[in-house]
Parts: sequence; structure tokens; C-alpha cells
Amino acid sequence: MANLQTLEIPVKGMDCAECVLHVEHALAGLPGVDSVQVYLTSEKAVLKADPAQITLPAIRKAVEGAGYSVPDAPDLSQPPKGNAVATLADFTRPVLTLFGVVFGAVLFIVVAGEWLGLFEQITERVPWYVGLAIVLAGGYPVFLNVIRATLKRQVISHTLMSIGALAALVVGQWATAAVVVFFMRVGNYAERFTTERARRAVKDLTAMAPQTARVEREGTEIEVPVAEVRLGETVVVRPGEKVPVDGEVLSGQATIDQAAITGESMPVEVAAGSRVYAASLAQLGSLRVRTKATGRDTTFGRVIQMVEEAEAHRADVQRVADKFSAYYLPVVAGIAALTFLLRRDPLATAAVLVVACSCSFALATPIAMLASIGAGAKRGLLIKGGKYLETLARADVLLVDKTGTLTLGQPEIKDVVPLDGVAKEDLLTLAASAERYSEHPLAEAVREAARQQGIRLLQPESFEAIPGQGVSAKLDGNTIQVGSRRMLPERVTHPAAETLEAQGKTLLWVIRDGKVAGILAAADTIRPEVPQALAEVRKLGIHQIELLTGDNERTAAELAGRLGVSYRANLLPEQKIAIVKEYQAQGHAVVMVGDGVNDAPALAQADVGIAMGAAGSDVAVEAAHLALMREDWRLVPEAFRIARRTMRVVKTNIAFTAVYNLIGLSLAAVGILPPILAAAAQSLPDIGILANSSRLLKPLVSAK
Ligand code: ADP
Ligand code: MG
Repeated sequence: MANLQTLEIPVKGMDCAECVLHVEHALAGLPGVDSVQVYLTSEKAVLKADPAQITLPAIRKAVEGAGYSVPDAPDLSQPPKGNAVATLADFTRPVLTLFGVVFGAVLFIVVAGEWLGLFEQITERVPWYVGLAIVLAGGYPVFLNVIRATLKRQVISHTLMSIGALAALVVGQWATAAVVVFFMRVGNYAERFTTERARRAVKDLTAMAPQTARVEREGTEIEVPVAEVRLGETVVVRPGEKVPVDGEVLSGQATIDQAAITGESMPVEVAAGSRVYAASLAQLGSLRVRTKATGRDTTFGRVIQMVEEAEAHRADVQRVADKFSAYYLPVVAGIAALTFLLRRDPLATAAVLVVACSCSFALATPIAMLASIGAGAKRGLLIKGGKYLETLARADVLLVDKTGTLTLGQPEIKDVVPLDGVAKEDLLTLAASAERYSEHPLAEAVREAARQQGIRLLQPESFEAIPGQGVSAKLDGNTIQVGSRRMLPERVTHPAAETLEAQGKTLLWVIRDGKVAGILAAADTIRPEVPQALAEVRKLGIHQIELLTGDNERTAAELAGRLGVSYRANLLPEQKIAIVKEYQAQGHAVVMVGDGVNDAPALAQADVGIAMGAAGSDVAVEAAHLALMREDWRLVPEAFRIARRTMRVVKTNIAFTAVYNLIGLSLAAVGILPPILAAAAQSLPDIGILANSSRLLKPLVSAK
């Protein structure tokens, strides 16, 4: 299909997992639509479609035909208005709901009492048409849904229950039918409640987005909506205000709280030259900030977008659940038919139909996933989909990058060793000028060393970064290369090099026109929380931990030895990918933790790629499946724990539903379980499952 365009359409009224499937189904059937993804929490549909064939009215009609709505003027930038005038419905709805609940509960007690022989014939004295009216009044929203689905030849979970209710009506037990209807409604409310809670986890995040900015325009400060701030404009941030954009501090000093992005509320000091992120809070001091990104393009904006879209990466277990539902309903219908044919008992048949429907089964998995993703995002752990939680829970190999990941990524040049008669200052000048435009932490270290010596950098005529090796630049007509041993034209050794490597230092060879001009030795500090974090990961049963680095053998060996992990050194980025593949070929689920540009391909190749310190490095965040928004290794074992807890909940839900329904079905089929108790029995696991899943919304307390 030529010329596909991505359309984002808000959809209202989806409360359940089935709803998502209905909307997806309705939209996928439209001409010109290539793919559809519907999001329950962010309440939208994202279509890839041919704009020549699809129109908004057609989309709206399809969504409305499925029983949902497209709001008129989709204005996503505005927060919902808090002070809207209360309408009559705002009063009548809770009153009606309360009345329904009380009435349903009383009815249930009466019918159950009649069945147990405690009361006699209370409901039988009510004329049949009153009973019918009660059933219809209570059940019309459910019946409407069922009829709508039936017209489209779809069987939904409430279809069977409605047939059960109908069967009870036909044999004159209106009260039983009413109780069935009552529990269907209870199920709906439970689903809606849980969906709302999961949605809130995302909305809480969105609510942290800044709304307005003070911009300096024509010499004065004016307040404008953030959407109107232009790139390059200067914004002013006062104490107690949110930083409205991503940018660089031009002047001023402040302590800011970046918890919205990093999950860490310990304030940090910023001053001229610092990078600041939208949605962080200035506490003390004012700032003038030059705008580098606004709205959705900010780090915060992208985090929200990724959390919203996490639903698209569904876990396999969820697909199994979806498929299971598709087979389950026909099987139940079959059992009901058999019960009727063999036992000629309409009530037992009704009981089978009613007990079988554990409606929340389909919702339980996505809710569990969303709950964990939402809870994770609040703590600085960005999880891009349930799929990755699932894989993380069973991962058994952890690969880690060294520079910037295990180490602070703030190396310092400790030794400057000129060779071949070059002056020490010239060596630094050459190296730092060649590194002028590199973003590698080592380049920063070289520039810093030059700065401390008061050296002025030269302007390179050309510059090239060679990932995993170093840089190459032209200075005054000479080719200057700075980097690892790999950059050397031939095998060169030098006694000084061996001594420095044995000290665990990273060597940067400086080469001028193919000849070694000297060596710089950098030392980087290991992140203090790493040993503890690795110990926790090991305790979780992941024993295969390997350090992958582009650095030299001795430095790697020294660090790996200290951490008690295996290592491979002198790796190019593509060799890291090959190692990931090698483990995958052996059937391992591989987690890779890395940072920076050169790790992005390996992060993408891993089953779960975790990007370290994601606030800042765009490439790694895009490539990774999980991103740690602050540079804190404690989040790594935390991610494993969240994943395992989520999968435990999901599996408990599935196992429990299966066993419970099996027992319920058997009892109903042999006539031990009357429809009235069947209705109550089917709603119990629903509530249990939803409660079990939404438990995950509470953040996990870090193990000490
Ligand atoms: P790691 O795999 O440990 O994260 P990298 O892949 O980033 O390390 O880099 C591997 C090696 O390549 C470094 O140890 C260094 O020797 C060299 N190198 C990479 N980039 C640069 C650079 N900009 N300047 C100097 N050396 C570099
Ligand atoms: Mg690195």
C-alpha cells in the first residue's frame, strides 16, 4: 500500500479488554487501513492508513458502530476542566447506582434464602411482567452490548450470561435472571474501576507536565502555553516553578528536583551550562534557560508517549489469554448444549452459561502489565511494554557494558606520556583538538585535561568518530587519531603502556600521520552501587553475568576481577551484537545493560535492552526496551523484581481462573450449583483477579 499515514484518533468509552478488541476489529475492517493499535489507558486508536481512502467520518462511524465514541474536537493539549457545572446526571447516577446495588443485594439474599428454604415464595408472588421490567431495567446496558455484538456475529462474554438469564426468565424465575443481571453489572463496574485506576497511573504522570512558560520576548517576560514556546527562545524559571522545556541554563543558579523524570527527588544543583529537563521543579533560585526541545520532544514528553504506547508491546501470555477466550466461549456453549440435551434441565443449563464467564480473565493480564509499567515510570524505570516484563522475568544472562555503564563515565586523564620527542603540551593540544566534537566520555576527559593546562584548542578541518575505537581528525594538514590500540597502524608496545594498563587505566593512543605521538591514560571510577546491585541480581538466580567492553584486556580483567564477573575485551560494537546473538542461539534470554550511542545496536538485539541514565542519550533510549531514567544500578535488580512479581500475579490469575471455572462448570452441569449461586460464584474471581492485578499499582518497596 502506498503512502501510509499515521492517524491518532481519541476513543471514549472503553472499559474492558474486550472493548479494545472490538474497536480494533471495527477499524481494521475499513478500506485503506493497514494496521490498527488501540490503547485502553490512553484512550486512543493509532491507525496506519492510506489517506486517499480513509476519512474521519468513516472512522467515527466505525467506532460508533462498535458502541464507542470519538470526541468532537479532539483537544489533547488541554487538561480536563475541574470546575465544570454539575449536571442532573451527576446527581442521579450515584443515586441510581446505590439503589441498584441495594436492590440487587436484597434480591440476592431473598433468592438465596428461597433456594435454601429459609423463606418461602416471596418472589413468586410478584407478577411476571413486574419481574421482566426489573430484569430489563437493570440489564439494558448489558443487553444492548450483547445485541450489538450479535448483530456483528461476535460472541462476547456477556452473551452466554445473557442467554442464561433468558433461560431463567423462560422457566419463570425472573428473580434469578435479575440476580444474574446484577452480577454482570457488578463485573462491569469492577472492570471500569480497575481500568480507571490503571489509567490514573499514566494520568498522574501526564499531570506533571508543565502547562505554561515565561518567555523573554522583546525585552519583557510574557507567560505563554508551553506549546507556543519556540526553539532557541529563552525561558525564565522562578523558584517553585516547573522547568517548561528541555534546554541549557544560560544564567542563574538553582536546586532542582528532577523526580518527574528520574524518580529521584534528591535535588541537584544547576548553573550556567547545565542541561535541564521539562517537568523538573526549581526549588531555590531562578534560571534563564535556552529552549532545546518542547512538548512531546522533551525527555519527559517522550517518556509519557512511550508509557502510553507500552500497551502495543503485548506480552505473549496476553495473546494466549486472548486466544483462550476465543476457544473458551464456544466450548462453554457446547457444554451448556450437552447439559440441556442430556439432562433436560433448563436451570442447570442456565447455571453452566452463567458460571463460565469469568469476564475479567482477559483484562487481568493487561491490567497487571499496565500497573507495573505505571508504577515503574514513577520511580524512574521506563518499561516499553508488557512483552519485556515477561522476558525479563525469565532472563538468565546479563551482559553489561563498561564505560559509562559500570563506571561513572566521568573518566579523568591521569597520565600524559609524550613519545618521539613531542612536547607534553603539544600532545594535549593535538589530542583535545581532535576530540573537540566527540561526545564520548573519554573525549570530555581529554578536553578537561587540556582546559586545566590552559590550552587553546585548534579548529579541526575534518572530524570522524569511529565507534568503539576513537576519533580521527585533520589538524593543520596532519591526520590525528586518538583512540584504543585498534587505531594503531601496527602492533606497537611500550613499557609505559603496560604499566598503565596493569593499573586498570584506559589508554588513549595519540597518532600523528601514522606515528605514535604519545599516550594518555584515563581512569574512571566504578559506580558505588554496582557491587551490591550485581549481588542482588545474582541472588535472583542470574549467575551468568559478563562484562563486554571496547577497552583493553588488562583494564577489563582488573574490573571484572573486582566484580567477580567474566569479561570480553577489545570489542567493537558489532562484536557485542554477535555475543548477544551467540547467547540467544544457545537458548538464553539475554538482558543487556548499556549506555551511549555505540551500545544502541546491542541493546536493540538483546531480548531486553536496558539503557542507563536515559535522560539525555536519545539513541540508547530509542533502541532499548527498558530505560533507567537516572544513573542508578539499584534500578536493575528492581526491574527484575518488578518483572517477576508481575508475572507471578499474571500466572496466579490464569491458574486460579482455570481451576475455579473447571470446578464451577462441573458443579453447574450436574445441577448442584443453581444459577443464582452460579452468578455470584462467577463474579468472585473477577473481583479477586482485578484486586490481585491492581495490587501491582503500589510501588514495590526496595529490598535493602
Ligand atoms: P565500552 O565498550 O567500555 O563502553 P567504548 O565502546 O565506548 O567502550 O569504547 C571502547 C574504546 O575505544 C575505549 O576504551 C577507548 O579506548 C576507545 N575510544 C572510543 N571512543 C573514543 C574517543 N572519542 N576518544 C578516545 N578513545 C575512544
Ligand atoms: Mg559505553
